[in-house]
Amino acid sequence: MSSIRYTPATICAVATAPGRGGVGVVRVSGRDLLPLAAAISGGKTPKPRYALYTDFVAADGGAIDNGLMLYFPAPHSFTGEDVIELQGHGGPVVLRMLLARCVELGARLAEPGEFSRRAFLNDKMDLAQAESVADLIDAASESAAKGALKSLKGAFSHEIHALVDGLITLRMLVEATLDFPEEDIDFLQAADATGKLAALRQQLDKVRATARQGAILREGMHVVLVGQPNVGKSSLMNALAGDEVAIVTDIAGTTRDTVREEILLDGVPVHIIDTAGLRDTDDVVEKIGIERTWQAVERADLALLLVDSREGLTAEVQAILERLPPALPRVQVFNKVDLSGEAAGLSMQDGHPLVRLSARTLDGVDVLKAKLLEMIGYSGADEGVFLARQRHLDAIARAADHLELAEADWEQVEIFAEELRMAQNALSEITGEFSADDLLGVILSRFCIGK
Ligand code: GDP
Repeated sequence: MSSIRYTPATICAVATAPGRGGVGVVRVSGRDLLPLAAAISGGKTPKPRYALYTDFVAADGGAIDNGLMLYFPAPHSFTGEDVIELQGHGGPVVLRMLLARCVELGARLAEPGEFSRRAFLNDKMDLAQAESVADLIDAASESAAKGALKSLKGAFSHEIHALVDGLITLRMLVEATLDFPEEDIDFLQAADATGKLAALRQQLDKVRATARQGAILREGMHVVLVGQPNVGKSSLMNALAGDEVAIVTDIAGTTRDTVREEILLDGVPVHIIDTAGLRDTDDVVEKIGIERTWQAVERADLALLLVDSREGLTAEVQAILERLPPALPRVQVFNKVDLSGEAAGLSMQDGHPLVRLSARTLDGVDVLKAKLLEMIGYSGADEGVFLARQRHLDAIARAADHLELAEADWEQVEIFAEELRMAQNALSEITGEFSADDLLGVILSRFCIGK
């Protein structure tokens, strides 16, 4: 079998966003890029990590553009290979010509996520870090960006490595006893194997709690908004959002067309699924939209029922309520208490929270905000939160299950050993040290070209 894990062709891509900008960057990665640098700069040799102001020249010697050339020799670069960045003027035509020049000089166009793939394969970062590059770029709030940066710097991976190290130590202990079946239990007892396992389970629980906060920060919550026209839906969304402005980006896989708007609650993105359009219709296009909205409702975290406190629940609202998934948690909001004269605050009705408030005077809005965050299990983005994905939570959950089984069956040493091994594998999926190939393809394929 060949030891080469990929073909180290020279790759190039435009690294800045499409469109026009003051500066546009073409990034090139490969082996021995100095000849390419010389060809593009008209014979100059860039000094590592210094900006070289130069013309970028075409094959016939004419200038394509002028700008800065940066040279990061291997292994001290993003990909671990030689990397050259050409910072030219940010127009699509100029950038295309620069890219064509790189291709002429032997590079090929990079595939989506290929720079990150090389960084991973050259041990510049692990899988969780590669994901956080995308998450940082896609972050919709400051808290999410901070969390992504923490993951990128390796905070999450560090916690996972610490757990994996602990598991390896315990596995060595357990597996050492497999050769001496007569004494195994005594030996494990003397070495406090179960105590060590309990400590690892505790440590895993802590990481799980932090990762869960990080996942909420990344994925946000999906709220179904039910309410008649004029009850104050827009006013309430504005009141909840306050000064925070959500920066909505196109993220593949989100059903953007059903989400009317997105707000931020303490940095947590809240995707509002508006039920206003849920009505009977013969229009084919509208029908598709309605079907999508119902699909989004199925996946929602909670429903927010908004009524005018002077009217209470109307028949129309009741009708929509009855069609919501019975298990969907819901909060009732009685708005406009400044008009009805009721006191703002939280109470319970039929087992569901009911918040009375005024979207106009903002009385009671904080109560609702706190309740919503509490219902999705968010306890605030303290400094420790790193961004995490559902994939990570799933892996942590599997590891926790295996550790639980290990604890239950520790006297059957072979099962004990096997459960520990499976727990380690599950955790190693997060950083990509286990079953990396399949996962890597899936994750990186969602990256943009140039990342
Ligand atoms: P939507 O159609 O459900 O989005 O309702 P809007 O947010 O547009 O509000 C409808 C009207 O009710 C507007 O004139 C708002 O200013 C008013 N409104 C909304 N919330 C309150 C409230 O708490 N108190 C009072 N007095 N008026 C409100």
